Amino acid sequence: MNGVQILVLSACVLVSGCAREERHPAQLNWLTMGTVAAVQCAQEADVAAVRDLTRTVFDRLEPIFSTWTETSELSQLNAKAGDAQEHPCSPDLGALLTITLDVTRASDGAFNPLVGAIMRAWGFNGAQSLVAPPAEALLRAACEQADWKGIQLRVRDQVVHVRLDKPGMRLDLGGIAKGYAVDRAFERVKVAGHTNSLIDLGGNLRATGEAVPGRGGWRVGIRNPFEGLSMVGTFLLREGEATATSGNYERFVEINGERYAHIMDARTGHPVRGMAGVTILAPTAVLADALSTTLFVMGPERGVQILARYPGCEALWIPDDPAVLTLIATPGFAERLTPTGKKAFSLRIVEPQKRVN
Ligand code: ADP
Ligand code: MG
Repeated sequence: MNGVQILVLSACVLVSGCAREERHPAQLNWLTMGTVAAVQCAQEADVAAVRDLTRTVFDRLEPIFSTWTETSELSQLNAKAGDAQEHPCSPDLGALLTITLDVTRASDGAFNPLVGAIMRAWGFNGAQSLVAPPAEALLRAACEQADWKGIQLRVRDQVVHVRLDKPGMRLDLGGIAKGYAVDRAFERVKVAGHTNSLIDLGGNLRATGEAVPGRGGWRVGIRNPFEGLSMVGTFLLREGEATATSGNYERFVEINGERYAHIMDARTGHPVRGMAGVTILAPTAVLADALSTTLFVMGPERGVQILARYPGCEALWIPDDPAVLTLIATPGFAERLTPTGKKAFSLRIVEPQKRVN
């Protein structure tokens, strides 16, 4: 048994191989965009070239989307919030903002790219760490700066222009930008003719080909949110498919000994409670990333309703209750899931309600 290979800091862990398989696919890791990037290739000879192509893409996008540096295109746009001007975006920022607002509208603001002010109020993204949770008055002010209807996008001469209505509005694309970056890298790698590779940026994965001949894809594990590095199950990521996980155990701030996770309910200004993890299977990494954050906020009952708009997307929720491990899945996800057998859990299926006219 060659065991389980863990991608450091990643919400998804990869199971590379089982007793009958002798070789691991080759893997290279590096740090970028505030997280760990990794590429794996079935053929050892490919891995350095795939890493170089992927790294070039991530290095190009980081200075556009970063919320950490004041010099990024996004930070510079944020600095102009409330100036009543429309600002032209680079093609990548324009494309990502367009996809973002589609998910924001579809989820009625559960996915809210203006969470920046709320994130900062809680001490994320370089803000000062806190000794007590932020005052309600401060959170109410941050929520006003998170009114997504104050984002105006307009295409002029084929260039996306953006205006942020109020001063203090801060776009934060942390819930979607990594997925976008993985898609751009995936395209580069495919165009260069590399088959059988897997790209991972902080748990946002997209696969081409297969890990070993005959497997039909790359087997990916879903972490048990309550038990360190153990898994609840695995599924096969097939040609071109993507997956992402949003978890409350990945990034958090500690205030007065209590942990506050990094996914926000922008209506209240408080971190979302009650959900431990959400995993999405999708045809693109950008959708997997955006929907994992969105459906974390929305929960299964409301969340499953918007999946009808995104063909090929499936979801799995794990509520934040360590006493009873429960998996809630769409029928398509449940079909693909192979339990690891080490840990008992109950599985509930959620289906979108059929419209009755
Ligand atoms: P990770 O960044 O760990 O991969 P996610 O993809 O779920 O996890 O993204 C979480 C990030 O998304 C947060 O760190 C923040 O930047 C941003 N975010 C937080 N709450 C929301 C929200 N309600 N809508 C959109 N983005 C959010
Ligand atoms: Mg996400």
